[in-house]
Amino acid sequence: VTRFPAWRKVPEFTVFASLLRMTTKYGFSDAREQLVDGIKGAYPTGWEGLGTGVVLGEDIFGSPKPHKNAVLNLFTEQSIKFALPFAAYRAALGGFSSLISDEPGTVLPRRMLASTVYGMEVIRSKLAMLAHVAVCDMGLEGCSNTACAANAGINPPDQRREELAKIYLGVVNGGAGGMLSPPSLGNTVCANCAKKLETPRRRWCEMTWEKLPHIFGVGNSWEEL
Ligand SMILES: [Zn+2]
Repeated sequence: VTRFPAWRKVPEFTVFASLLRMTTKYGFSDAREQLVDGIKGAYPTGWEGLGTGVVLGEDIFGSPKPHKNAVLNLFTEQSIKFALPFAAYRAALGGFSSLISDEPGTVLPRRMLASTVYGMEVIRSKLAMLAHVAVCDMGLEGCSNTACAANAGINPPDQRREELAKIYLGVVNGGAGGMLSPPSLGNTVCANCAKKLETPRRRWCEMTWEKLPHIFGVGNSWEEL
């Protein structure tokens, strides 16, 4: 019986990739499982997994940080299915120029490139709509708290518009985990308004997360992966 030492931490990406390929090739399923277990927290399957303070996505491989596309390619090749929706989401967060990278190992197959760009656009456009409605409502209503960006008394109108734009960007950009993670609106608006913005946003993100495998074209549902 071949025994592998227990890995205390996730090895850097190129080592991780070689070990993963080797354990697959020679059928060392225990060692393979151990490797895959190490990245589970970084590639959450539940929306709560995006919580703050968690090492997410390719950051788990430490330095040098691998290209998000390279990770997505490896997971696809090695059928690490549970991690595919989040790996695609991370690749999408890299933006268009990162998605079309042509450096070795980072070229996404045509279909995957198309579905990742599509997924990115679906999430972005719907989130923009949500933010637009939220900011319109907030602008009309106005807040009485003078320290709040939604304060009705902010003058001149240009400055008010600027403050409302800050709220819009906060809602659209999300937190450290990208578009789908909760933003820290507390720095911009008062606690009351933050709650008003965050509650519908969270509901929307949870709903979108449920559809993430479908949005990125890697499966019909989380259960299926
Ligand atoms: Zn307020």
